[in-house]
Amino acid sequence: MRFEFATAGRIIFGRGSLGELRGALRDMGTRRVLVVHGANAERANPLLEMAREGGIECMRFSVPGEPTTSIVEEGVRLARGAECDGVIGFGGGSAIDAAKAIASLAANPGELLDYLEVVGHGRQLTKASLPWIAIPTTAGAGTEVTRNAVIISTENRVKASLRSPLLLARLAIVDPELTRDLPPAITAATGLDALTQLIEPYVCNRANPMTDGVCLEGMRRVARSLRRAFENGAADDAAREDMALAALFGGLALANAGLGAVHGFAAPIGGMFPRAPHGAVCAALLPEVMRVNLRALRAHDPDSAALRRYDEVARILTGDDKALADDGAKWVADLCAALDIPKLGFHGITGADIPLLVENGLRASSMKPNPVVLTPGELAEILQAAI
Ligand SMILES: [Zn+2]
Repeated sequence: MRFEFATAGRIIFGRGSLGELRGALRDMGTRRVLVVHGANAERANPLLEMAREGGIECMRFSVPGEPTTSIVEEGVRLARGAECDGVIGFGGGSAIDAAKAIASLAANPGELLDYLEVVGHGRQLTKASLPWIAIPTTAGAGTEVTRNAVIISTENRVKASLRSPLLLARLAIVDPELTRDLPPAITAATGLDALTQLIEPYVCNRANPMTDGVCLEGMRRVARSLRRAFENGAADDAAREDMALAALFGGLALANAGLGAVHGFAAPIGGMFPRAPHGAVCAALLPEVMRVNLRALRAHDPDSAALRRYDEVARILTGDDKALADDGAKWVADLCAALDIPKLGFHGITGADIPLLVENGLRASSMKPNPVVLTPGELAEILQAAI
């Protein structure tokens, strides 16, 4: 056994923990920070006020959708030009990924494309990022504790990553109260992304005992709380807390184990259909990937430990000690239906897109840790069923 585990320098979790920001900024010794937030600028006002009360100069930068290469380049110009000495990412996965990339590139020589995988030169980042703080306002992506930032190249219609241990946040503040007002559709999509990011690392071929522990605990919390957060999220603080923790655990797991075919497809789909929310795409794919993975494992590798792991997933999700792997896949499919998750066709994906998505999916880094190697035919079958 050999594994490593790397995460944010410090994690503060709890209701109201946003209030710890002022002290954290003081400890970091920053004077001028770039606050990267989502489309709704007002939501960041309390945070800006808090920082300013602490004597810190704040500049804001809005990232309205998933970060593109040009948005990140603009943010880097702003941070360099204003000589910011810190960055805060406040929002969903998109704002936090943008903050992560900006904090890093502002401190490294050259430009984004020098370092970006796939569409850029993929050079290694060499310098530590500007100290940066991640504060998620959704419960899904877990990107506050991951060491990659996903960026869309609109020109090439692909998603590519900046990847380095140097990208890790100095501090992650996970405050479930920030997710209280999320609308049900976003709660559903982001929550199912979190669930996917707990199941895929648990059954993948790079799982380790540390990520196993967080995956199992995270799945328990999603099982008991995602429906409740969807139905009554504004009042059910306990469900919001469970989901915030589950999302954080998914981030810890995916960064230190790996993912699988759901995310292997989510990357090329996100590049070709940038308006399709990542979580909704993952949710539509998850039950189909579980079904085809199980069939392929039984056919090619019947003694695989992954099959026993899928049984364990089923027992946790259903709460039934006698449940078997297929019951887990069915439970996920039922949950997607209850949470009104649309099929992939809703986002404009059609059968004509399948060959290119299969080709690009086969090359995606997330496809490699899938517990079984899927054939192009099996991959096409997954997409067909999810459309
Ligand atoms: Zn995801």
